[in-house]
Amino acid sequence: MRDTVLGLRWLLPILLLVLSSCRGGDSQTVHKSTQFLMGTIVEVAVVAPPQTAKASIHAVFEELKRVEDLTSFHKPSELSRINDSAGRGSIRANPEVFNLIKQALKFAELTGGAFEPTLGPLSKLWNFSGESEARVPEPHEVREALAKTGFQRIRVDVASQTLTLPESGMSLDLGGIAKGYALDRARAVLQDAGVSGALVNAGGDILAMGEKGPGKPWRIGIQDPRIPRGIVAVASVKDKFIVTSGDYERFIEKDGTRYHHILDPTTGYSARGLQSVTVIAPSGVAADALSTAVFVLGAEKGLKLIESTPDVEALIIDSMGRQFRSSGAATMIEIQG
Ligand code: AMP
Ligand code: MG
Repeated sequence: MRDTVLGLRWLLPILLLVLSSCRGGDSQTVHKSTQFLMGTIVEVAVVAPPQTAKASIHAVFEELKRVEDLTSFHKPSELSRINDSAGRGSIRANPEVFNLIKQALKFAELTGGAFEPTLGPLSKLWNFSGESEARVPEPHEVREALAKTGFQRIRVDVASQTLTLPESGMSLDLGGIAKGYALDRARAVLQDAGVSGALVNAGGDILAMGEKGPGKPWRIGIQDPRIPRGIVAVASVKDKFIVTSGDYERFIEKDGTRYHHILDPTTGYSARGLQSVTVIAPSGVAADALSTAVFVLGAEKGLKLIESTPDVEALIIDSMGRQFRSSGAATMIEIQG
């Protein structure tokens, strides 16, 4: 049976959801622009006078490109240079990428390895984010790739800014955190440009900076994981990052089974039990790493993790379509009837 990649079809609906949230009956001028970056459609909307808006939107796209060039897994990048050093001793890393890897390892620790930045060998095998088609690998291939993972094996030396990937074939994949980092950088660039209100939507991973207008929070539609263009909830937020990990984003179907891009690091196969996890957090890396981790952990353990993390809220949708909100989410996330 031929595998079909269906995931990217969802990008347009995601985009439209947020676009409609930018329009409003107010007198604010929202300037928007769209580019294809980081493997997805990125839309930047800025509330500012036209000259500031134009310059800041340009600066955001340049910054996102720069982060992509540093962290890309499949294309040549600083990350791929680090990965090429596996099994060949330690390597001195670019400070920014070094810090991002350190943060990724911190989230691996915090989530008991549910967030696992060393899944590179499995990412290559499944190829959900590569140029060619994804495929379901043979069980022995999954076992061999799994043997080359494990965040505890990465050695980090802060004094010399060096990293060691001890075994040939090991590799870091920052796909579960890089977009969140890019959104953190987007906020920094917008702040530098004097912008106080903006929305950056990278394929459903969103920075909602400031407000849409005085006293008006940004309203973000949260995608129904099974109904294109459908929304299950609306989040009203100010100065937050909203990141969703879903089994509908990149997937293939084979013999009636859906295989998607969020992998359970204990099995090497797609994490089961949930359809989507949306995390709202004050930083992009936290929202991104935690949405991936909670997807792997499942509803019960995932909610516990969210409840124990200050300033972080979540909406979890399980495989039966049931919704679970963290205790602080009720005031932010309104479920649609
Ligand atoms: P996200 O869409 O943020 O949940 O990230 C999914 C991406 O992160 C995948 O495309 C992989 O590149 C990578 N990834 C998959 N599973 C994991 C995991 N358990 N921990 C960390 N990164 C992962
Ligand atoms: Mg993530």
